[in-house]
Amino acid sequence: MTPFMGNPLTVLDTLARPMRDLRVSVTDRCNFRCVYCMPKEVFGSDHAFLPRAEILHFEEIERIVRAGVALGVRKVRLTGGEPLVRKNLEHLVGLLARIEGIEDLTLTTNASLLATRAQVLADAGLHRVTVSLDALDDPTFQAMNDVGFPVSRVLEGIAAAEAAGLGPIKVNAVIRRGLNEHAIGDLAEHFRGTGNTIRYIEYMDVGHSNGWRLDDVVPAAEIIQRINARWPLEPVDPDYRGEVAQRYRYRDGAGEIGVISSVTQPFCGDCTRARLSADGHLYTCLFATAGHDLRALVRSSATDADLAEALRVIWTGRDDRYSELRTLETVDLPKVEMSFIGG
Ligand code: SAM
Repeated sequence: MTPFMGNPLTVLDTLARPMRDLRVSVTDRCNFRCVYCMPKEVFGSDHAFLPRAEILHFEEIERIVRAGVALGVRKVRLTGGEPLVRKNLEHLVGLLARIEGIEDLTLTTNASLLATRAQVLADAGLHRVTVSLDALDDPTFQAMNDVGFPVSRVLEGIAAAEAAGLGPIKVNAVIRRGLNEHAIGDLAEHFRGTGNTIRYIEYMDVGHSNGWRLDDVVPAAEIIQRINARWPLEPVDPDYRGEVAQRYRYRDGAGEIGVISSVTQPFCGDCTRARLSADGHLYTCLFATAGHDLRALVRSSATDADLAEALRVIWTGRDDRYSELRTLETVDLPKVEMSFIGG
């Protein structure tokens, strides 16, 4: 494993974890209604999304990201909601691409709008994209995205991103028991040998609206077992501390896969991630029930140094390790929705 190369300014939380990744949600809106994330019954036409005035402007996001980078952030991921429904996202990418110290500038997207935007985003300075795709057959995929979106258009988005130099692409699939288990093999077969990596995500109890039950989780170990039975695998060492996915390579040289096992094998001890919601709140855990308001600060006369100091205070006080403490009681906490704080 490559050791974590901390810089002298790196701040540590109460469990000695540095702040290394910042996920920035640019909108709480999405054009999909994935049943495990933004179910229609909760996010229907009468749902109150954030009013425009409450959403951070790109320049405000840039200031907060700069403050994070001053404290050790090296990886920035734009997410949402669906980040590509935010107009002129390439402008934000351009602002962030100029910040010295960011080693990895990426975007997580459902790829529905990627085919026409990939080149502009790459030109603005985006390094990579991660695409979410839960199945390769339309009946299953459409039952999951719940807006009738076809697989072919996601594949077109992936192809456009590759052509624009945004690869190798990570493709994330959430696996839910009884819903898309067959996609485990389909996706492995499709992406083997393409240079792109499929990563299977255990269905998580994020938010409060998806009716999560432990029985719906397909454990990462089972996913690995299933693929290994068809195409033998071997584990790959992590690249860096805090890497989210456990990686495996095909023994026949056809590339890698990953599993993200935040339910069955929690990895809080290595969690180096902070999340900024579209309305400017900083969350230090995906399963948090509350965030820290940075919008009030960026909209006041606070200087960049004040902003960095506020971030430092939040991070040094951080003690979250929800996934390790998860119990039947914590599952029912009023946690913030993933579509709100960003996946
Ligand atoms: N709209 C973008 C997308 O689809 O990638 C970005 C936001 S989405 C919330 C980010 C990721 O979170 C997606 O890969 C999605 O599948 C995943 N996700 C959402 N709810 C989840 C859950 N309950 N368990 C596991 N992953 C989930």
